[in-house]
Amino acid sequence: MTTPTYIAWEQAEPPKNRPVLADFDLLRKREDVEWTLLTLGEKPAAKLEDLDQEHLAWYMAHAAAKGIFAKPVSQSGAPSPEVRGMATAGRHELFTLFLAWNEHAVDELVRCEATERAGGPSRGLAQERSGILLGYPPCCVSFMSGLARQEDDGILQTYRSAGSSIAKSSHKVLNFLPPLVSPVTWFPCSLHCSASEKKGTHYLAALARADHERAEKVRAVLPGVVLAFRRFCFVHLHGAHVHGAELRYSGVSDALSYTSLIPLSASAEIKRFRAEVTHVLAQYRRVFLASDAIVLHCGRGRTRTGKLLKTPLVLAFPGARGGELL
Ligand SMILES: [Zn+2]
Repeated sequence: MTTPTYIAWEQAEPPKNRPVLADFDLLRKREDVEWTLLTLGEKPAAKLEDLDQEHLAWYMAHAAAKGIFAKPVSQSGAPSPEVRGMATAGRHELFTLFLAWNEHAVDELVRCEATERAGGPSRGLAQERSGILLGYPPCCVSFMSGLARQEDDGILQTYRSAGSSIAKSSHKVLNFLPPLVSPVTWFPCSLHCSASEKKGTHYLAALARADHERAEKVRAVLPGVVLAFRRFCFVHLHGAHVHGAELRYSGVSDALSYTSLIPLSASAEIKRFRAEVTHVLAQYRRVFLASDAIVLHCGRGRTRTGKLLKTPLVLAFPGARGGELL
C-alpha cells in the first residue's frame, strides 16, 4: 500500500459491495465537444490540447475535409502534462491543435500561443486575444488573463468559498470538470458566471439539435456534487442530494470515466486517485463531509472515516426539475 495523497482511510473490514462506476461509454466513443461545436458552426475557433499523433492525424484529416483551417503546435516548451497531473504519451510528442473557420484566426491563435509561452508584458494581452477568438465569455477571458499564473490547481482554489464546506449551488451547465464532455470548455470566472451559463446552455441546445442522444447523455452527467482535489483528480457523485453536510448519491465517476485520452488514462497520479478516492466512495451511497475528514456510512450504524490530506473543492450542481429542458 502506497502512502496516501488525498485521503487516509482508517482500517476497516473490506466492504461487501464491489465498486460500481457510472458508465459513460457512449460519451467516450465520441469526439471532444469543443470540436463538435466548431463543426456545427457554433464556435469560430477551437483549441484541442494533449493530442497524441493518432488523435492529431484524425482531427487534421477531418478538419481538411470540412474546410476548417488547422495548425498543430508541439507541447514541448508549454507547461508539461506532469505539472498538470497527467502523463506524457510515452515516447510520443503531444500537440495542441488550433482550429478555425478563418485562416487568419488560426494564425493569430498560434502567434498568441507563442507570446503566452514566451511570457513577459504581452502575455496577458495575447491570452485575452486568444480567449476572445475561441469564443469564451469576455468576463472569463479577463479573469484568466488577470491571474498571475494560469495553473489549474490555483484556478480551482479561487473558486473556494471561504468558510463553507459545501459551495453555493451552481447551474449544472457550469460543471466544467468532466473532460471533453462539458459544454463549458473554459474556466468560468466564477461558479455563478451568468455569461458562461448562457453560453453553455446555448451550446448544449445546439448539440441537442445535431445529436439528441449525445446531448441527453451530457445533460444527465452534469448534475451532482463534485469533490475536486485537482483539475483531473475529482470524484463526481451522481444524483447527489445535500442534507446539511451529508451527501446521498446513486453513482460515482471520475475523469477516467469520460475519456481514454492518453495523458489521462496513462497518468499514475490519476490511477492512484481512482484507487484511493473513487473506488472507495463507489462502494457506499452516503457520506458526511467534515472540514478535515470524510465519514462513509457503511450501514447498520457503522462508519468508516478518512482523514483529508488535501481539502477538496466541493461543488454542487443540482439536477433539473421534472421535465425541465435546458
Ligand atoms: Zn465569466
